[in-house]
Amino acid sequence: MVDYGIKYWSNDDFIIEDGLVKVNYQHKPSLLEIVQDIRERGYKGPLLVRFPHLIHKQVRQLFSAFETAIDEYHYTGSFKAVFPLKVNQMPNFVLPLMECVQGLCYGLEAGSKSELIVAMAYTNKNAPITVNGFKDREMISLGFIAAKMGHDITLTIEGLNELESIIEVAKELGAPYPNIGLRIRLHSTGTGVWGKSGGINAKFGLTSTELLEAIRRLEDSKLLAQFTMIHFHIGSQISDISPLKKALREVGNIYAELRKMGAKNLTCVNIGGGLAVEYTQHEGENNRNYTLSEFSGDVVFSLKEIVRNKQEKEPDIFIESGRFVSANHAVLVAPVLELFSQEYDEKALRLKENNPPLIAEMLDLYQSVSEKNAIEYLHDSLDHMESLLTLFDLGYIDLTDRSNTEILVHLIIKKVIKLLKHKNHNDIIRIQEQVQERYLLNCSFFQSLPDYWGLGQNFPVMPLDRLNRRPTRSASLWDITCDSDGEIAFDAKKPLYLHDVDVMEEEYFLGFFLVGAYQEVLGMRHNLFTHPTEFSVVFDDDLNKGYEIENLLEAQNILDVLDDLDYDTKEIERILKQRIDDSSISDEDKKEVLGMLYVMLSENGYLRTITKDLQ
Ligand SMILES: *Cc1c(COP(=O)(O)O)cnc(C)c1O
Repeated sequence: MVDYGIKYWSNDDFIIEDGLVKVNYQHKPSLLEIVQDIRERGYKGPLLVRFPHLIHKQVRQLFSAFETAIDEYHYTGSFKAVFPLKVNQMPNFVLPLMECVQGLCYGLEAGSKSELIVAMAYTNKNAPITVNGFKDREMISLGFIAAKMGHDITLTIEGLNELESIIEVAKELGAPYPNIGLRIRLHSTGTGVWGKSGGINAKFGLTSTELLEAIRRLEDSKLLAQFTMIHFHIGSQISDISPLKKALREVGNIYAELRKMGAKNLTCVNIGGGLAVEYTQHEGENNRNYTLSEFSGDVVFSLKEIVRNKQEKEPDIFIESGRFVSANHAVLVAPVLELFSQEYDEKALRLKENNPPLIAEMLDLYQSVSEKNAIEYLHDSLDHMESLLTLFDLGYIDLTDRSNTEILVHLIIKKVIKLLKHKNHNDIIRIQEQVQERYLLNCSFFQSLPDYWGLGQNFPVMPLDRLNRRPTRSASLWDITCDSDGEIAFDAKKPLYLHDVDVMEEEYFLGFFLVGAYQEVLGMRHNLFTHPTEFSVVFDDDLNKGYEIENLLEAQNILDVLDDLDYDTKEIERILKQRIDDSSISDEDKKEVLGMLYVMLSENGYLRTITKDLQ
């Protein structure tokens, strides 16, 4: 059976059992049962399902990997972490995260004023806050306010101008001061799509010359004691560990040098984010060439070696992993609305008394195709289709002939797939390379998988059930936006196989996994599709079902979406009503039309019903 590469990407968070994807935790409910549970409460359309226990799992793994390495190497510094809010700022992620890290040295990282406010409100007591990115005086003052509130906050300086502002604000507002970090502009570059975060031409960080100048100015303004951290970030989703090791050597030496220059309170090396997530569904296509324990071991070992050579104190290790902590906690579930070829039914054929010879031949192919000649007949029919389409362009056949051609070719493809279903899979693969079935999904890729659209990032995708039946259709996925970029196509060498379902009769859902990092706030309202309905699944052994649904947040209704764009929705309602009033329909009809309109305005814009009220 096809397992959709679950062993590569799921990290045992999800498993396949009894033909279903199940959450590998406690009672192990299937995703399908959770989805049906929520749909029975009246929520249709796409769903974003969060699993807070998986947030906890990632944090635990991160801490345990570093603590193990620290023990193993008898390292004397400690391990601390922050979650970078830019990776997921949603309250239904951040609040459960802060709850499960109580007691750990785990706080939040902010890159803007709004994020800093979230960090100041929700970071646990005594947990750290770091602030990166460009800062004006007001944002720096906000950092001072946080320090006055008692937060352990570090403002990372990205350039000398910011340092000037800090010195001025310090004079103005006085102690207690926030800690100061300096971001290092590394010589070694980052890797991958996000490599711009590192390297000598990076957007952020101080060169060696600027570092020396920064130390002098801190000393002059009596703030050197506040300087506690150096920071770097070589980019997200680090695929290869060697650039990280190179960066660590660079940064470790800078750390030691700065301490020798008198920065005695410099005790922290912040290695940024970048710890990668495995998204691949295919053997031998790994996104990263290291494991978590290799990563943590390398970081601890490299720093230990460098500072030993320079005879300095081993620094505390600070990490800002975002993707690793948040990606796996969320799953997007999209109902399949339609298979495009479903419209090509035998009943739709409009055959004539006298059909063009090629069509007559195709009809014959369709009727006589067998397991033995399947591939050959398929190729013949594809050839005939090409010729018939050319004949149409030249004006030799009419629209009915053309329609019959399309239907026949699809009927032949379907029949061939059915005939070969139990045969050697290679034969099926050969057909599928030529014909992909298009599955229409009730969701927007722009809203829910923006990194697919913007960066070509693939997310593991699979059906939620029927996993004990071999899928026979090589698929491409289409969303309901009217944008031709709203398509996920699959390479013939790495196809996605789905089941041949009749969506008029049965439901079929696809799950996109590892969508908990970056996707939600980056998602855009292309075509004015809002966020999906979202909720958290919280496990509790004492409950009947073993879990409970919490934090349900329904997709925005149409008027709310328009209101967000600053439309005057009262005016819209008034105009619509006026136009109905002014129309020539009867008074009774006016009432009815208006009623229908109001119902629609109060619902979200995803599709509801195609047939049989399934979607
Ligand atoms: C984006 C970012 C991170 C998070 O990176 P991940 O790859 O998601 O772990 C950490 N630190 C800084 C400075 C960042 O800009």
